[in-house]
Amino acid sequence: MHDNEAPKASRRNILRAGAAIVAAGVVVKHAAAEDKIEKSLVGYQDKPNANGQHCSVCANFQAPASCAIVAGTIDPNGWCGAFAPKE
Ligand code: SF4
Repeated sequence: MHDNEAPKASRRNILRAGAAIVAAGVVVKHAAAEDKIEKSLVGYQDKPNANGQHCSVCANFQAPASCAIVAGTIDPNGWCGAFAPKE
């Protein structure tokens, strides 16, 4: 390189930077998903419990099919051990 030439970004460096940005986004997204508890750890089931408790009347339920603390798609008629009745 001559003294009067500005350093040029090589195609390889540009691709590396792009890949790093994408990887960072994946890590952040993955971390957000891990903030919730796996269904298996709280005994989630796709039906009400024996007492008729179910997700749609739980304080943690987020319509139409999510939960504030349990990961994945949540059936309004499902139930888990972290059930907390709405007040
Ligand atoms: S019972 Fe409540 S805490 Fe458990 S999955 Fe359903 S909404 Fe979430």
